[in-house]
Amino acid sequence: MGIATVNPATGETLRTYEAQGPAEVERRIDAAHEAYRQYRTTPFSERARLMRAAAVLLDEDTEDIARTMTTEMGKPVVAARAEVAKCAKTMRWYADHAEDLLADEHPPQRDVQDAGADFARVHYRPLGPILAVMPWNFPLWQVIRFAAPALMAGNTGLLKHASNVPQTALYLGELFRRGGFPAGCFQTLLIGSGAVEGVLRDPRIAAATLTGSEPAGRSVASIAGDEVKKTVLELGGSDPYIVMPSADLSRAVKTAVTARVQNNGQSCIAAKRFIVHRDVYDTFAERFTAAMNALALGDPLDEDTDVGPLATEQGRADLEVLVDDAVAAGATVLCGGGRPEAYPRGWYYKPTVLTGITPAMRIHHEEAFGPVATLYPVADIEEAVAVANDSPFGLSSNVWTRKEEDIAFFVRDLEAGGVFVNGMTASHPALPFGGVKRSGYGRELAGHGIREFCNVTTVWQR
Ligand code: NDP
Repeated sequence: MGIATVNPATGETLRTYEAQGPAEVERRIDAAHEAYRQYRTTPFSERARLMRAAAVLLDEDTEDIARTMTTEMGKPVVAARAEVAKCAKTMRWYADHAEDLLADEHPPQRDVQDAGADFARVHYRPLGPILAVMPWNFPLWQVIRFAAPALMAGNTGLLKHASNVPQTALYLGELFRRGGFPAGCFQTLLIGSGAVEGVLRDPRIAAATLTGSEPAGRSVASIAGDEVKKTVLELGGSDPYIVMPSADLSRAVKTAVTARVQNNGQSCIAAKRFIVHRDVYDTFAERFTAAMNALALGDPLDEDTDVGPLATEQGRADLEVLVDDAVAAGATVLCGGGRPEAYPRGWYYKPTVLTGITPAMRIHHEEAFGPVATLYPVADIEEAVAVANDSPFGLSSNVWTRKEEDIAFFVRDLEAGGVFVNGMTASHPALPFGGVKRSGYGRELAGHGIREFCNVTTVWQR
């Protein structure tokens, strides 16, 4: 499929786009490079002024861009508005904090003298034009969480967005220009994934970030590695959600549903594997299944919809294969397990709960990118952690317990970039975000995120 807006609620192609050709791509890389030469020297106060101006525009555009996102990838419009607000907040957060986050660091004077210097400091400089390869699931947020820190650090950005969200991609390129950023500071490349390699190998591109699938990440990281360019990768996740006997079960069940079906189940940090202590397993399974069954499936533009369609036909097909494979190998379907009869058009899939999962099933190891939960009963905390860690992914994790010793155990032993206790994983501009294992490397957000695309410069002076 080319670059197009196809409404996932109906399957209707609304708009198609011509990919930019080599001459246009060259012009944009050159503009990013030229803009960087000047922009890198602008003071933080000026960058912050532009970032805040862009945030004001984004706030003003909330309704339009929220509906565009919903039409392009099917998220409930209520969630789309919340995504816009979070983006504006993050832009302001980096406008407020970038200067402090990138302030010079001064090693202890005795170490400075030991290094033979009178003065020494660590100074953060930008790297240059950064290529961002981004996915469709949070089409605004994934981009802003890269762009806000990157621009505040003095880098310029080139966005290659997913081919099914071209209107959101074009909007983002315009947003920063309208905010007053100099031409070339942030641009959208309307290209397919086949054209990424040429951009990445261009000597004017300094580094790359990718959020998406493992194959896409592997490809971009391999090419960047070949060019000795830095990458940050945020790939999939199959986050565990562990419920211990001391948990507040009502809250744990309610939050579990949101954690699984947020964004129609298509979030890397959605809880996907529900690992529940035997003492509370039956109660949890019964209440969780009932709540999943009760969700309102429907048109994502409807204010009351909880779960809309999957974003692409291929995405639904992939999910069906995972569920069918598990069922064929003996998994039990507690609810859902197929397409809803009420929505023959569009790419809907019923909220689904599976149990009886074994390591032989693909869903045990692969990411279920849709509203499908797997339930695992466990005997004790050791088994809970063993099941949680039996995954190639390590993005985040959720644990429910009231015991301090349980919390310490989980924080020590869960193989993940986050441990969320008595709540669900959610990103926030002040908290670093990213994973280990096949979930990728590097961190986004907070000080860790803004420093990923900086030249950490040692200044030694005598
Ligand atoms: P992809 O990884 O294919 O797409 C993400 C981005 O990468 C898009 O911009 C895509 O461009 C680009 N891309 C794809 N392949 C390459 C490549 N070889 N070189 C350079 N860029 C590439 O995700 P899908 O949409 O296909 O989703 C598949 C699965 O990925 C999901 O089921 C889920 O498991 C995971 N995923 C995880 C996300 C996360 O948030 N971590 C987000 C999205 C998906 P184009 O659209 O033009 O192909």
